[in-house]
Amino acid sequence: MFPEYRENDVSVLTFNLTWNCPVRCSYCYRAMTVSQSNKDTLKIESLIKECKIASEYGIKEYRFSGGEPTSLGNALFEYADVVFSITGQKPVLMTSGYHIDDAWLAKARGKFSAIAVSVENPLEPLQKVVNNKRILEIIRQNTCDELPLSYGLTMITADHFKNIPQIFDLLYENVDKKFYPQLDYPCLKSLVEPSHTQLEELRESTAHVYKNYGVIPYYFVYLVGSLLWLEEDCRRVNINLHPEGNYQIYDSLLERWQVEYRWQNYVLDQQSTSAICNKCEWLDSCKHHPFWDLRYDWCKIRKSLFEGIYQGLNIEQ
Ligand code: SF4
Repeated sequence: MFPEYRENDVSVLTFNLTWNCPVRCSYCYRAMTVSQSNKDTLKIESLIKECKIASEYGIKEYRFSGGEPTSLGNALFEYADVVFSITGQKPVLMTSGYHIDDAWLAKARGKFSAIAVSVENPLEPLQKVVNNKRILEIIRQNTCDELPLSYGLTMITADHFKNIPQIFDLLYENVDKKFYPQLDYPCLKSLVEPSHTQLEELRESTAHVYKNYGVIPYYFVYLVGSLLWLEEDCRRVNINLHPEGNYQIYDSLLERWQVEYRWQNYVLDQQSTSAICNKCEWLDSCKHHPFWDLRYDWCKIRKSLFEGIYQGLNIEQ
């Protein structure tokens, strides 16, 4: 392998099958940075080649993302079969649900290990291209072993921090408490800094949710990662293959994988020598820096989240 590789980490190969997306959420980093005239679709030859390489390196998790991967139509199901036949793993599908209807569900049976559908805040959807009520109903009525529908990200703006317990309960009860929602903050494209009152509301809401439900596996993961990864000293290392068939400027999966590790190590080294971080009481918990940067402008939100989590779990910091 390479010197930075760590056996216990979870490395994920994400196939961005196309940049095309009919939804184009206002908070989506990709929607704003990729031209919609770009109609490239990952070629099946590239999928086969990279699956063979990844499988030999022991990568265990494969995802389809984009753009909107369901834009591929029936080819999506063929691609899922390719991943399974080469790697022995069914891919995770990440989707807005735009193309999901009864006919789609019939074809998707047994093809994916998870179908993570990003749903909007039921109190005030940010994007209305996908009907949120309809997609919540589809998830509620259809999730089963053959159609493992689950929640992708639900973006919560700062004016709704006070409503997090209500939003969490609505989504959780929609699926008869079979799986948790995944709330997050829209901070990738641009950051709107919450007010002092909103940060307090985030802390209080988080404490309430953690008190009621215990550890939530994925909760504002852009900002704080996952407590499960932290507990097991495990990192998630995501490698993206683009529709054009490349790993951005890198030639091979191995090269891109190593670069991801090197950046993660670089950021953690920066943090360990940072005067700001060394004065921060959350240094031991703050280990997730997915964008190769410490992003100090996110710290107030991180601190409210950590305070709420520890308070809700009744853990002394
Ligand atoms: S919350 Fe901010 S200051 Fe504290 S350890 Fe994390 S990055 Fe550093």
